[in-house]
Amino acid sequence: MHNLFNTLQKFELGDGRQGSFHSLPALEEAGVGPVSQLPVSIRLVLESVLRNCDGKKVSEQNVRALANWKPTETRTEEIPFIVARIVLQDFTGVPLLVDLAAMRSAVQRLGKNPKIIEPLVPVDLVVDHSVQVDFAGSADALQKNLEMEFRRNRQRYQFLKWGMQAFDTFKVVPPGIGIVHQVNLEYLAKGVLSSPSPNADLPSAIFYPDTLVGTDSHTTMINGLGIVGWGVGGIEAEAGMLGQPVYFLTPDVVGVHLTGGLREGVTATDLALTVTEMLRKAKVVGKFVEFFGLGAAALPVVDRATIANMAPEYGATMGFFPIDAECVNYLRATGRSEELCLTYENYYRAQGLFGIPKKGDIAYSQELELNLGTVVPSVAGPKRPQDRIELPKMRDAFMKAMTRPVMDNGFGKRLEELYVTARVNTAREAHPPINHSYGHRKLGVEPSESEMRDQHPAPHTSEQVPPSTFRGVQSEIRHGSVLIAAITSCTNTSNPSVMLAAGLLAKKAVERGLSVNPVVKTSLAPGSRVVSDYLDRTGLQLYLDQLGFNLVGYGCTTCIGNSGPLPATVEDAISKYDLVAASVLSGNRNFEARVHQSIKANFLMSPPLVVAFALAGRVDIDLSRDPIGTGKDGRPVYLRDLWPSLREIRDLMQTALQPEVYRRLFKDFAAQNPRWNEIPSSTGNIYGWDRRSTYIQEPPFFEKFQMQAGEIREIKGARTLAIFGDSVTTDHISPAGSIKKTSPAGKYLIENGVTAEDFNSYGSRRGNDRVMTRGTFANVRVKNLMVPGVEGGVTRFFGRDAAPSASADGPAGRPHLGEQMPIYDAAMKYRTAGVPLVVIAGQEYGTGSSRDWAAKGTNLLGVKAVVAQSFERIHRSNLVGMGVLPLQFKEGTTAQSLQLDGTETYDIVGLDANLKPQQDLTLKITRQDGGVEAVPVRCRIDTPIEIDYYQHGGILPYVLRQLVARA
Ligand code: SF4
Repeated sequence: MHNLFNTLQKFELGDGRQGSFHSLPALEEAGVGPVSQLPVSIRLVLESVLRNCDGKKVSEQNVRALANWKPTETRTEEIPFIVARIVLQDFTGVPLLVDLAAMRSAVQRLGKNPKIIEPLVPVDLVVDHSVQVDFAGSADALQKNLEMEFRRNRQRYQFLKWGMQAFDTFKVVPPGIGIVHQVNLEYLAKGVLSSPSPNADLPSAIFYPDTLVGTDSHTTMINGLGIVGWGVGGIEAEAGMLGQPVYFLTPDVVGVHLTGGLREGVTATDLALTVTEMLRKAKVVGKFVEFFGLGAAALPVVDRATIANMAPEYGATMGFFPIDAECVNYLRATGRSEELCLTYENYYRAQGLFGIPKKGDIAYSQELELNLGTVVPSVAGPKRPQDRIELPKMRDAFMKAMTRPVMDNGFGKRLEELYVTARVNTAREAHPPINHSYGHRKLGVEPSESEMRDQHPAPHTSEQVPPSTFRGVQSEIRHGSVLIAAITSCTNTSNPSVMLAAGLLAKKAVERGLSVNPVVKTSLAPGSRVVSDYLDRTGLQLYLDQLGFNLVGYGCTTCIGNSGPLPATVEDAISKYDLVAASVLSGNRNFEARVHQSIKANFLMSPPLVVAFALAGRVDIDLSRDPIGTGKDGRPVYLRDLWPSLREIRDLMQTALQPEVYRRLFKDFAAQNPRWNEIPSSTGNIYGWDRRSTYIQEPPFFEKFQMQAGEIREIKGARTLAIFGDSVTTDHISPAGSIKKTSPAGKYLIENGVTAEDFNSYGSRRGNDRVMTRGTFANVRVKNLMVPGVEGGVTRFFGRDAAPSASADGPAGRPHLGEQMPIYDAAMKYRTAGVPLVVIAGQEYGTGSSRDWAAKGTNLLGVKAVVAQSFERIHRSNLVGMGVLPLQFKEGTTAQSLQLDGTETYDIVGLDANLKPQQDLTLKITRQDGGVEAVPVRCRIDTPIEIDYYQHGGILPYVLRQLVARA
């Protein structure tokens, strides 16, 4: 432990003893820089840089550079940030553990001690992404979904239990407890951490800020509690675990000055959607956002967390709220010990970091203003979280989206297509499931189409699905029908004010005699059992149950796309008539196929609005004027009749924040989870890979591992695997949702004895590279422009003989069009032929959740470079982390302006051992007619350390070589 710049100082702990810390005020006194004028978020990172300064990974120059951060200047310096801990969710955590296990196997094969692979900082994995809404709208939905989850994921959970015993610092919060970011907020986060002093002459422990990275984009939720942290790819998290700093370019910090307060009837969700829209427009991508001013200070931590959660949606690295008395109140209210709360407050006071800055205190890179009093009830959709719609404009916005071109985020319908109506047969728990052992809210089996037509002539249009004769409730569905209504996502379920509002609205609706049509799949999945505790104690769960919002699980569910199946009759009707059906959810992402593969219009909103739209059953409605339904007294019921007042919500808030409830529910998880205890697990430092497992396989990343790194060389003769438009998401690249039987991954699973019912999702199979490579670019909605008009993971394969001017399968003189086939199949043929591949893309390539398999799968398909107009931050760094070269077109250059159609071959010229960050390279395009064009592109390897990663074939081989060399 060093005392650089005489910064090692003492402060008083919560128990009256003394603790040590590296003092930022002392750093300023030493004349290193104007530290007290820096944004709070920068100061917290600076503390880590100062404390971890060892002259190797972190240098004195790093400390000086950050202490002299300027609001505006060209950003070239990268910051080596060593975080205090790491959080994982199971979708990303399992493959991370697979990689660690594979590294241990590789180390053992090299004849070294496998224990050199060990996380150096605490790692907490919360199992939250696997639960699916197979059962909904019934009292036993929770138990049945949990049973199904354990049955489906047994192999993965066995593997996690092996990891818990194999690694000393790796802990698991088992399934059925909550959602990672809410569990982090309510339990894992301590706010201030300590390590025993390594110096005998310094007996007191060293205290430092709680900082973290997580393998999930919405890790930023913890910024609401004044904790620095953000989402990184699994690959970076692995490097962080193994002692590597997380490197990032020194950021601009955008200050958002909040004034005023929210008005009656406006929720924290409305505010989060407003901030998302505003900051997207302000282009905060890659920047820190820091909220300040009296408006920020007046917001409770739970509201701050809702806003911070959506940082990935507004594009910022963080949406940070500084530390103040509200944070201490929250820690206390959620059961953290009095001693910790006092230590926390004393520590940040000693650092000069306690209290939210006022206007003028700090010079930010850019300042924005938001008066909270101007925020109005809002939703966002139908495809992007930043497309906010004021509630009264919902009907018009939906109708406009229906006819807007698909390229402009519309649905491209013609006017005459807008009024198709289909009838389906549904019943809430009317029958036990018929076709599936794990059925959903059940619907009758439809008779054949011709039988139905004979019996039921179409009543509205010739295009209608005739009504069924089966038992159950007949419902009409059409464009804009709400088919999924989900109170879901840590974004909102961590906020008691909106959850209580949903319960109060449900109560008033039930009292007025309203109900939800059973065609709407309703669900409630909080991110913590605390929510159930207060909804039960206030009696509000009973009313939610009556509307079908029964508890379905404690996990991500609909927010991550685990919405479970819709009734077959509903799916058929949607598909047959190409209906633009809707979901309403309190989540944060809504791009097509995220929520459910068959639901095209997805609207984000507060939990009470989810209940309201479920009652209305449609989204083409103006809830400020149109009745939501008809009460039992025969009179129309309006939203304003049901909306709870602030006072009603506040009266119940005390019930929500009871420290002893948090303490009781967040302890001894194993004892509270017998199913978890029943899972047997293997022991030992090395994992015994089972070649028959379809969930866990040793990945090929270290198969031919050598201690010598490769050389950076030009790429020659590459073929195009795909050409994409704008906003291709990581979910398009590596879907998390269901696996189609006819897809390469589905076929592989069937060949390996897995029935379609047990396919589970791509997300749950990320421990098996065989499934994931086949699933890369396999999203049913991805559009490869090489195959116009076709959705799904297909491409055109051009064999070696289809080189420029050749004509393998077309008549002489006609261009070679290639053979259409699944992307995976084409990639394997290219691999056999030794042909490297490129992917061409538009703006914001890799947007959406951080997903390391989007980069891993790209690598394993044989893609050597992705050339895009722009990249999402994490995905770009993940590509480098997997040894794939990200290249960026210059402004104004696109696949369209270059008239690329996939028939070309590419050389990447200028790539050699002297490569520099952000260097210009040349993309040499050879067309089918023999024409050649040289296009300048920018290499998006952004930092010197990334050059090393790229040269080593990725972060993992780089770290492994370092660790083995030291052993
Ligand atoms: S609930 Fe949604 S935002 Fe939260 S961790 Fe799960 S998927 Fe991510």
